[in-house]
Amino acid sequence: MNHQFICAAAALALFPTHALAEETTHRQAGAHVHGKGTLNIAIEGAKVEIELEAPGADIVGFETVAKGDQQKAVLDKAKTQLADALKLFGLPEAAGCKLEKATVEMHADDHDHDEKGEADHKGGDHDHEKADGSQHSEFHATYALECSAPERLTGLSTTYFTTFPGAQSLNVNVATTKGQTQTELTRDKPTLDLTGMM
Ligand SMILES: [Zn+2]
Repeated sequence: MNHQFICAAAALALFPTHALAEETTHRQAGAHVHGKGTLNIAIEGAKVEIELEAPGADIVGFETVAKGDQQKAVLDKAKTQLADALKLFGLPEAAGCKLEKATVEMHADDHDHDEKGEADHKGGDHDHEKADGSQHSEFHATYALECSAPERLTGLSTTYFTTFPGAQSLNVNVATTKGQTQTELTRDKPTLDLTGMM
């Protein structure tokens, strides 16, 4: 009986508790990763709602408040490009989709993110003060579309990656009345198949 107890205790001691700590740190630090954005698509009846979240680095190449005429011009151009939903997200013409509303904003991101070195000296502490003066911000765009033949929404093709050279991938969540699916769009694969989802 004693022997069994000792073995159990030894096994617990050997179990690498640091793996858990590491995962916690990683999750806290992974609020946004440059190159990676998120695209949420919800389709219900004739209504299509799209939401895009992307690091400022992906869209304009900087994440601080735009300084000087050049950065302001880059920001204005990006906002215009992001607002042009039907150009950014190519939908089948047969679906007859019209853009009802688009909003685009750039906002500061309070969370730390995955940068080499940062996680090392901060450890697991969630530090809201940025000792190194770094700043991160994200673009948040929402789109409301209405489609006269939503059953013809067989796919989507995005010009996002050619429009914004800093963007590498989009994590895509699609929700329709038939269910939910998750996929990824990349520079090599900028098209989304919606067959079977409508
Ligand atoms: Zn950032």
